[in-house]
Amino acid sequence: MLLDISRLRTVVVDVNRRVEPEAFADLTDDFRVAGPTELVGTVRREKGTHVVLHSRVTSAMEVTCGRCLESYVVPFSADVETRFVPPAEFARVTAETAAKAGLLTAGAVADDEDEEDEDIEPVAEGHVVGLAEYRDEAIDLGDVIREQLYLALPMKPLCQESCKGLCPVCGANRNRETCQCQYQWEDPRMAVLAEWKSRNEKT
Ligand SMILES: [Zn+2]
Ligand SMILES: [Zn+2]
Repeated sequence: MLLDISRLRTVVVDVNRRVEPEAFADLTDDFRVAGPTELVGTVRREKGTHVVLHSRVTSAMEVTCGRCLESYVVPFSADVETRFVPPAEFARVTAETAAKAGLLTAGAVADDEDEEDEDIEPVAEGHVVGLAEYRDEAIDLGDVIREQLYLALPMKPLCQESCKGLCPVCGANRNRETCQCQYQWEDPRMAVLAEWKSRNEKT
């Protein structure tokens, strides 16, 4: 999923890629890509060596519910701005970006600094800004997508907020069926005591 940037200039160029789920078959985590992924946006060159990609990544992934163990599909869409720099500049640009972020969080300090710094743009909510390297005059759109997949992955996947989970006794999916099991938790030590008691009462 490489995009050739060798002829890219400061003029904005459209990017439109559709990637089939098979391209992510190597992702062996707790999810799989459930349908075609689309990356739509623009790319342009900046400051000679930088390449800025604005894109919207739309995809869907299948994850497993943590309670009932059924898989379900999570659709997602993310707006991403990625600045690609050559490896030789990566460390410096990372440090600069971190310093700017520090100024932004400091707030009051940023106001006192010179107002000329137009590079700092307000970041809209749900908008991800990333920094990446490029090699051999090509940027890897696959990496941009992969990163978004991981960011969109739910921390505690639940098929529905009210998922009833599995019966701890017979394993039935309690969202779909009602079993007759008693699944109140009983202290195993109490169970032993109860058995001992009933045995002694009989004798
Ligand atoms: Zn569930
Ligand atoms: Zn049961």
